[in-house]
Formats: sequence, structure tokens, C-alpha cells
Amino acid sequence: MTSAQYSNNLDAFWMPFTANRQFKQNPRMLVAAKDMHYTSADGRQILDGTAGLWCVNAGHGRPKIIEAVSKQVAELDYAPAFQMGHPKAFELAARLAAMMPSPLDHVFFTNSGSESVDTALKIALAYHRAKGNGTKYRLLGRERGYHGVGFGGISVGGISGNRKTFGTMLTGVDHIRHTHDLSHNAFTRGQPEYGVEFADDLEKVIALHDASNIAALIVEPVACSTGVLVPPKGYLKRLREICDKHDILLIFDEVITGFGRLGTPFAVDYFDVIPDLVTTAKGLTSGVVPMGAVFASSKIYEAFMNAPENTIELFHGYTYSAHPVACAAALATLDVYEEEGLLTRVSEIAQYWEDGLHSLKGLPHVIDIRNLGLIGAIELEPIPGAPTKRAFQAFLKAYESNLMVRTTGDIIALSPPLIIEKSHIDQIFDTLSGVLKQID
Ligand code: PLP
Repeated sequence: MTSAQYSNNLDAFWMPFTANRQFKQNPRMLVAAKDMHYTSADGRQILDGTAGLWCVNAGHGRPKIIEAVSKQVAELDYAPAFQMGHPKAFELAARLAAMMPSPLDHVFFTNSGSESVDTALKIALAYHRAKGNGTKYRLLGRERGYHGVGFGGISVGGISGNRKTFGTMLTGVDHIRHTHDLSHNAFTRGQPEYGVEFADDLEKVIALHDASNIAALIVEPVACSTGVLVPPKGYLKRLREICDKHDILLIFDEVITGFGRLGTPFAVDYFDVIPDLVTTAKGLTSGVVPMGAVFASSKIYEAFMNAPENTIELFHGYTYSAHPVACAAALATLDVYEEEGLLTRVSEIAQYWEDGLHSLKGLPHVIDIRNLGLIGAIELEPIPGAPTKRAFQAFLKAYESNLMVRTTGDIIALSPPLIIEKSHIDQIFDTLSGVLKQID
């Protein structure tokens, strides 16, 4: 068979998180990308309203990143990170640590958000054991949370569809309530005033299991994949206080909020709350090469460094941890972010974004609109008896109209590359306004 014959056969590829049969009847093929646009197989320029999957923060086809990756493949294609090293891994870790507020001074490399989450959960458990608190084995997550698809991540995650068909999960996991409350907070711009007390649910869960049994709580600072749930003012600070009171580690899952999405380098900076561990991926390499990184505080790292010097302190790692090509991509991506001020750029355009997004209020089916930084969501009234169908129609119509959006449930989510210009913002909301008027 020729390569064209192979690529016309859509049967073999079992597509992730996709309605395979629907897609294969009417494929949406992307063949190229540059800056803010994809090129579709039928030759259209599709405006990227979602930075791929919330990851292409620097925009597509950036020459500096392409060059760094090409050079690295030729120079050092692979090097193990177990008992060996290569300079770019150390350079990248040091540079990342310098970007994070102290004491988040240590970096463990992974290949994805899911791996970052599992890594952080394992570090949390091992930390308490290293401190002699081996009974602290329970992990807490939050309803509607998304922490990737590993068994650790789906156990602490709170999206039922991602869990219910996969058996028993990790034992000892529990969840605090989510922060979504349309009765008080519909159409809030930015962080809701109402809802700091949702954090007190953590006290209830601690009372149930006892703090002596709880290792960590993981939350997304802004819960994105579930449909953009913006934390109420003061909520994350309160979670931090409660965790401190009970010696429970706080993990921020910044796989989406990291690398400039809120107008600060990390959500840690935006909310001025410092957790013990931070998980990242996506924007770390602007999506060019898979890579993730977990930031750990000095307190955690030091707790592992008491064993005899020739012993491995943490029995964890991946063949591709700190892969040289990924490190080169990440270093070049950080250069692009720095040279173009992209990690703070959103603070300049967030108001324009917010105004454009909220101009859709009053259009058919719209029951809520919410935003923070360069993230937006439009929640639609579900079609009775057919949840998700209306938003999926909107997704298809938007794609026909040269705009890529993402939908989750009946929510349209938006998170374009950070290089977006006002004209693109206008195009996104003009297109969506037309789409909302057309769908059933
Ligand atoms: N954590 C969060 C908050 C995410 O949004 C995602 C992906 O969207 C993940 C983890 C999983 O990342 P990956 O798909 O790279 O495994």
C-alpha cells in the first residue's frame, strides 16, 4: 500500500476522547499550522480558539522552537536520565525553578499532564512516609476536577465519565465539593464574589477521615476541562490555610493555567497562593514535544535527602523524563515567552477578551458565561434528554465557519494562543454569535 492509501484508511487509529464513528464518517483533518491558524485538508484557514488542546501558548510554527528541536535531534537525540544526565535537563530545571516563587525550587520531569499528576501524588505519599507519617495515605481531589487519565489522576479526578467504566480506582480517595453555583454566580466576570465558604467542605472531609490519614489535596486553580469553573475570591487561600492547619500537602494542577494563561507565569502568582507541589505540561513546550514538569518545594525535596548518599531517594521516573529534544523545545519556548513578554501579555488583553465573550449574553441557549485570563466558557441549556448534543452542534458549526473551539458537556470552552490579536478576538465572538443563532 502507498502512504496515501494508508492515510485514507481511517479504521486503524482508535482516536482518543473522540466519537470515532462520527468522526470517521465526516473527518476533520488538519494538515498544517502557523501562528493563530490551522490549515484544514480542504484548504481552509481555521482560527485556533483553543491553542490546540490548551497547549500551544506561543502559537504555531515558531521558528525558534523548530530550530532548537531540529538541532537537538542531530546533536544528542536521546540520553537516559537514570543515573546519567545531560546539560539541558539541568539548565531547564534551574530556569523553571527560577520562574516559580520560592520555595518551589525543585523540578521532576515527565512527559504529560497525566504523568505529572501521578508523579505529584506519589511524591506526596512518599514524602509523608519519609517524614515518618506513613498513615497519611489518603488523597483528596475535587468534584468535576480533571487530572488526566492515569489511575491516580482519574481517582482524584471528579468527572464521572472518566471514572465509571474503569473499576475500583485507588483506595482511600475522597473529594471535596466543586465551586460551581449558577444560582449565585451566573454571568460573573472574573472571580465570583460568592463562594469562599465552599473551601470549608475540606474541613468536613478531614473530620470524616482524620487528618492523620490524609496526604494531600489536589485541585486545578481554575478547573478548565470540566468547563471552566473559576474559583471564588479567597477560596484557594482558604484551602491553603486548612491544609497547613492539618499538615496536608496542597497540589495545584497547573497543566492548563501554567505558562501565562492567566496573565502571570503561573496561577501560583495570579492567586498569590503557594502550594507544596505544582503539576505542569502543555505550555511548557507550547505543545511542540510532549513534556511535563512537577515543581516540589524545598521542604519536600529535602525530606528525601536523608538516606545514605548512594541510595535512590525516589523510586520513580520515566524513560523519557528530561528527554533532550523536549528539553530543547522547552528552553526555546521559554525564550519565545520571554522575548515576546507572553507570560504576562494576557493581562493586557484580558479585558478586551472578557468584553467580547460577555457580549454573547442574551443569545439563544446561553445560560452562563465565565472567564479568567485568556480562558472563557459559554454554557448552553442542554437539549432535554440529549445532553452534550447542543454544544457539539456548536462545535461542528464553528469548525465549518473556520473556528476551532472545544466543548465539554454543554459548555463551549475557549483558550486561544497567547499571541492573539484583537482582530482574532473579534472574529472568535462574531463567529460564535452566528453559530449560536444557527443551532437548534
Ligand atoms: N491536568 C489538567 C488540569 C489538565 O487539564 C490535563 C489535560 O487537559 C491533564 C492534567 C492531563 O494532561 P495530559 O493530557 O497531557 O496527560
